Amino acid sequence: MRLDVASLGTTLVVAPHPDDESLGCGGLIALLRSHGHRVHLLVTTDGAGSHPNSRQYPTDRLRELRYREVRCAAGVLGVKADEITFLHCPDRFVPVRESSGFPAVVDRVAELLHEIEPQTVVVPWRRDRHCDHEASWQILREAAGRVRFTGCWLEYHVWLPELGDADAFPRPGEVRRLELDISAVLDLKRRAIAEHRSQTTDLISDDPNGFRLSPETLARFDEPIEIYLEPNDD
Ligand SMILES: [Zn+2]
Repeated sequence: MRLDVASLGTTLVVAPHPDDESLGCGGLIALLRSHGHRVHLLVTTDGAGSHPNSRQYPTDRLRELRYREVRCAAGVLGVKADEITFLHCPDRFVPVRESSGFPAVVDRVAELLHEIEPQTVVVPWRRDRHCDHEASWQILREAAGRVRFTGCWLEYHVWLPELGDADAFPRPGEVRRLELDISAVLDLKRRAIAEHRSQTTDLISDDPNGFRLSPETLARFDEPIEIYLEPNDD
C-alpha cells in the first residue's frame, strides 16, 4: 500500500540520533513540508558516542557538531531550528522502560505532544535492534498513551535489515507496510544525509574506533522509496 502524505497533517518525527531523521525519513519530511504540513523533530540522544576516543572532538565539541549537523539537515528538508527539540540523552543510554530515568523523559515528551498536538507521529521501529532506537519507541509509546494520542502512528526502520534477528522483523498481521515514493525529493534527502559529515566522511580522523556509516548502509537509504510500518492493533 502507498502512504498518503497529504492526509498526515502536523507530524512529529522522532530521531534517536542526529542523522536518523534524514536516513529514515528524509523523503517523508521533505514531502510533508511541500504539502505545507508542519514537521517537528525530536532528537533523543546527543550523538556524542560516535567517536569516543577523538581528541580533536571531545564529547562537548562532538555534541555541538552533531546538533549543528542535524539543524543543517533539517533546514535542507524544510524544518527550522526552532522546530527541533533535543532530549539530550547520552548516546547509547536512552532510558528504557524499567530504568529510573524513564518517567522524567516520558513527562517531557508528553509535554511536547501536548504542545505540538501532532496528527501523525513517526518513530523508530519497535524492534530496530539498536538500544536507543528501541528505547525511543518505548518513550513515545508511553507518552502517547499518557496524552491519549489517537492520530496516525508510523514506524520506520534504520538498522533492522542489518542487525535484525528473526524475531525483530514484523510478525504476520502485526503491521501494514506502506511505501512512500520519494523520487521527487530524493535529491533533498541526499543533501540532508550529506550534512551529517561526522557520520559520512573522514571529518573526524583521529579515532580508529570512530563510527562511520558504511557505503552499504548509505546505499540502502539512497532509494526512491521509503517504507513505513503502521501497527494493525495497539
Ligand atoms: Zn540511530
